[in-house]
Amino acid sequence: MVLSTLRSQFPTLEQSNDGYPLCYLDTAATSQKPQSVIDAMAHYYRFDNANVHRAAHQLSARATSQYEAVRDKLRQFINASQREEIIFTHGTTESINTVANGLTEQLGKGQLILIDSAAHHANIVPWQELAKRTGAVIKPIPLTKDCRLDINAFEALLTEKPSIVALSHVSNALGTLNPVKELVAKAKQAGAITLVDGAQAIAHMIVDVQSIDCDFYVFSGHKMYGPTGIGVLYGRFKQLDSLSPLMTGGEMIKSVSFEATEFNQLPNRLEAGTPPIAEVIGLGAAIDFIQALPTAEIHTKEQELLTYLQDELENIGDVVLYGAHKDNIGAVAFNLADEHHQDVGILLDQQGIAVRCGHHCAMPLMQTLGLKGCCRASIGVYTNKADIDNFINAMKSVKELLL
Ligand code: PMP
Repeated sequence: MVLSTLRSQFPTLEQSNDGYPLCYLDTAATSQKPQSVIDAMAHYYRFDNANVHRAAHQLSARATSQYEAVRDKLRQFINASQREEIIFTHGTTESINTVANGLTEQLGKGQLILIDSAAHHANIVPWQELAKRTGAVIKPIPLTKDCRLDINAFEALLTEKPSIVALSHVSNALGTLNPVKELVAKAKQAGAITLVDGAQAIAHMIVDVQSIDCDFYVFSGHKMYGPTGIGVLYGRFKQLDSLSPLMTGGEMIKSVSFEATEFNQLPNRLEAGTPPIAEVIGLGAAIDFIQALPTAEIHTKEQELLTYLQDELENIGDVVLYGAHKDNIGAVAFNLADEHHQDVGILLDQQGIAVRCGHHCAMPLMQTLGLKGCCRASIGVYTNKADIDNFINAMKSVKELLL
């Protein structure tokens, strides 16, 4: 696929906002979808719509084979060792809840859970609920002044022998990248179960779960050019198999009587009820889309654009960047002097620029930074230099208006 035709595959981007061309810089919240993903879902509903797994008829057989083929595709995409290690959920949030809930019986009073201080609420609240149920204790892994995870502090916390270490691969609020392979190795040595939240990494880099060597890796389809309502929980077979299911009901059982129920084997054991079939098929098309891209070229382009974005924002003057590093991934967090982030966001929107403003579901991080919130501009494969230039020009006019 040539990069010049890439943008035209995203029909949403071909519109204007109040006469301004849409400049979508909110990919970290959700990515736009290529036509191939939209078509794959429409095709399924038009020709193959049936429930999966149970029926004897051809339509169901077609739906099942498409659904299960995506599991194989995902296994290969993140290099899991077997297809049973891929569980379909409705998103990163459900994936983390599945793990945190599933570990309830394995955790006891006083046991320690370490959480990344820059984590999204989805990687905080399920652990807090687990701690409430079990009497376990949560400790945040502090950040350094430049908003990276503090490795020395992490190592010190590891001497307390945590049972669980929950990390972000990339911070959604700041775009900072964690050296997860190194962190997981240290956590494993200390005897911890490890979970990596890859929601903001999966669309921007090659993820190899066997190389990272984590017990669990989670992400959402809608951040990687796929549909909403579909997520992935990767788990090392033994760890996944030891989780008690978050949800029970149809599909996840082997046999049921009024006296007792025997659960099914993985992956079905953790996929109760009718799954999001069209969304799984859409996710399969998103993986095809990503895999058809020239990976190295795309990664270089995204890194160059992000650096350009960081530099141009800084050059405006009176713009404060948070945790901006050259190795950040996909996003830049900023405020315009002391102006309210929401005001800046609304004024940008009036010029067709879509950025996100607020706490970015990372309130503890905002507290650490002493902020109520900030703006975040984030990029994807379709973002080009003209988008960044439009955004920077709009920021200059917002500055003129407000300061
Ligand atoms: N973790 C991170 C790092 C995220 O960016 C997000 C989405 N903003 C989530 C978790 C939650 O994902 P979802 O809402 O798709 O479940």
